[in-house]
Amino acid sequence: MPLSPSDTHKVLESIGHKPKKKLGQNFLIDGNIVKKSLTMAAPSPSDAIVEIGPGLGTLTEELLSRGYQVHAVELDPNLAAYLRKKFSKELKNNSLVLTEGDAVKEPTGSLTLKDDTFRIVANLPYAISSPWLESILGGKKIPQSMTLMLQKEAADRMWAKPSTKNYNALSIFLHGAYKLEKSHAVSKQCFYPVPAVDSVLIHMKRLPEPFLYQKESRNLIRKVFTKRRKQMGAVIKQESTRSQEILEDWLKQTGLPRTLRAEQISPTDWQHLSQIISD
Ligand code: SAM
Repeated sequence: MPLSPSDTHKVLESIGHKPKKKLGQNFLIDGNIVKKSLTMAAPSPSDAIVEIGPGLGTLTEELLSRGYQVHAVELDPNLAAYLRKKFSKELKNNSLVLTEGDAVKEPTGSLTLKDDTFRIVANLPYAISSPWLESILGGKKIPQSMTLMLQKEAADRMWAKPSTKNYNALSIFLHGAYKLEKSHAVSKQCFYPVPAVDSVLIHMKRLPEPFLYQKESRNLIRKVFTKRRKQMGAVIKQESTRSQEILEDWLKQTGLPRTLRAEQISPTDWQHLSQIISD
């Protein structure tokens, strides 16, 4: 059951917990948003669900009540202890597996590679949304879909198009593997405590043939983007010999002009660079 602000306050008081800003502890208190997350995610009964930052377990409870197996990752030891008590039955019968740890290091918690189809449903701690997504995209298996509550600005950056100020390395990696299907603005009043920033609930679906950038290409693209407004010709000169060779080869093969800047180059052209590195 989603909690009202006063109920949430009471629960927090009963466990002696003060919401930590640093950990993005703004708890969902709106039942419609909890249900909307599930409607957007539309998992099949056999899908495993990964939830990042279960907090007081509002979303977790809804997922469990619908019969899904949930793999949750919570960093805060106080909240993890509360969840272990609240869901002792579900933990015993393994419908909930709780990992107490950092989701950036364990982006899918206790999920194993045997879990064929899985989805992510999460009200993310906003400070880790980008590094966590990078960890997910760098993993061996990526989810079928991700239904995420994000800071509005972060979502805008993730789905930015080339030649806009928000376009960055993560937008490129995401465009290769996912399609943004739905987006829903969420009022600040849906959280306790009320956050300072605007939020948005988004649903992204894995592409039929997702393109995953390997580590070396991700590192190179990220590095090139630190000089996003410099012409590629000038950027190349400052790179290591190996990167210079790769980038020169890429410009030659694609016919991209040396005067182009990183922020103007399309995700498809960056994929070509990644293929050169993998070959
Ligand atoms: N899911 C709950 C809800 O919707 O009410 C809480 C969401 S709250 C926005 C974010 C949660 O993520 C908090 O419980 C916080 O402790 C947890 N968290 C913060 N950083 C984390 C990290 N690096 N790894 C795992 N959980 C984290």
